[in-house]
Amino acid sequence: MEEAKPATKPTNCAKCNKVLKKKIWYYRNGKYFCNKTCWRASVVKAEKPAAGEAKPAA
Ligand SMILES: [Zn+2]
Repeated sequence: MEEAKPATKPTNCAKCNKVLKKKIWYYRNGKYFCNKTCWRASVVKAEKPAAGEAKPAA
């Protein structure tokens, strides 16, 4: 079990870095976001395959 807990409470969105108001954080995958939109944007980015960037041979 290695669940890293944040030492301090999140104060900014993990995506847009906007200041998070109390109790309205959107918590997903160990990160806090200001809303669902930012979470989705982050997820979409993370889901991109890191390897296998196929470039069309010119
Ligand atoms: Zn945000």
